[in-house]
Amino acid sequence: MRFDNKTVLMTGAASGLGRATAIQLAKEGARLSLVDVNSAALEETRQIVLQYAPQAEVFLMTADVADEKAVQDYVNQTVEKYGAIDGFFNNAGVEGKQSPTADYSTEEFQRVLSINLNGVFYGLKYVLGVMQKQGHGSIVNMASVGGIRGVGNQSGYSASKHGVVGLTRNSGIEYGQYGIRVNAVAPGAIMTAMVEGSLKQMGGDKWEEIGREFVSVNPMKRFGKPVEVAYLVAFLLSDQAEFINATLIPIDGGQSYKY
Ligand code: NAD
Repeated sequence: MRFDNKTVLMTGAASGLGRATAIQLAKEGARLSLVDVNSAALEETRQIVLQYAPQAEVFLMTADVADEKAVQDYVNQTVEKYGAIDGFFNNAGVEGKQSPTADYSTEEFQRVLSINLNGVFYGLKYVLGVMQKQGHGSIVNMASVGGIRGVGNQSGYSASKHGVVGLTRNSGIEYGQYGIRVNAVAPGAIMTAMVEGSLKQMGGDKWEEIGREFVSVNPMKRFGKPVEVAYLVAFLLSDQAEFINATLIPIDGGQSYKY
C-alpha cells in the first residue's frame, strides 16, 4: 500500500493509460482526484476503480487541460478537497490527424500543442506551486517514443511530446532542491483507444492487420498493456523512486533502441 494517505491528481483519467493508472493507485491506497474532458467516461472510471478498490476516495473534475483557468481550478479544488497533492500524473493527450508536414494543418498543429504541451505546462505551473509549499511531491509527465524519435506524419504530436521531455528536464532540475521529483514516461504502442484510432487512420478497416505489422518489428512482438504503464507510473510516483528525477523512461519493449 505505497499510497496510503496520499493524494494523486491525474489528467486524462477517463480512458486508457490514465484509467489503468487510477485503478492501480486506488488498489494501493491512494485518494484520487481525476480530471478529464469526457465526464461520462470519467464516471465510468470511478465505477471501475470502486470495483477494484471499494474503499477508495475518488473525486472527479471535468476540465479541458488546454484551458489555463480550468487547470488552475482543478488544482485548487484538489487542494480544497484533500489538503495536499502528493503525486501528479500529467497525462491527458491527443494524437491528432496524421499527415506529412506540408499537408499538416496549422489549426491541427495548434490544437494538438494546446492540449499535449500547453496542458502539461499549465499542470506543472500550478501543481509545482502547491508541492513547493508542501516541501514534497512527485510528478510524472506523459511523453511518448514520439518525443524521443521521429515517427512520421505527426508534426503536432512529435513537437508536443519532445516539448514535454524538455519541460520535464527543466522542472526536474529546478525543483529537486525542494524535495520534488519530475519525470516523464515514453510509452511505445500500448493498446488503448488512442492507438486503435491511430491504426484506423493508417489502415481503415484493415487496422488490425496494420497493427500486427506494426508490432512485428518490436523486439517483444506485441503491443504493450495499459497496466504495464500503470506499474511504471505508480513506481515513479511512489517513495521507492526517491532519487529518480528529471529523467525520461521509455516503456516500449525495447523498440526505440533498435537499430
Ligand atoms: P486515450 O485516448 O485512451 O485517453 C486519453 C484521455 O485524455 C481521454 O480520456 C481523453 O478524453 C482525455 N483528454 C483528451 N483531451 C483532453 C483535454 N483537452 N482535457 C482533458 N482531458 C483530455 O489515450 P491513451 O493511450 O490512454 O493516452 C494517454 C496519454 O498517453 C496521452 O498523452 C498519449 O499521448 C500518451 N501515450 C499513449 C501511448 C499509447 O500507445 N497508448 C503511447 C505514448 C504516449
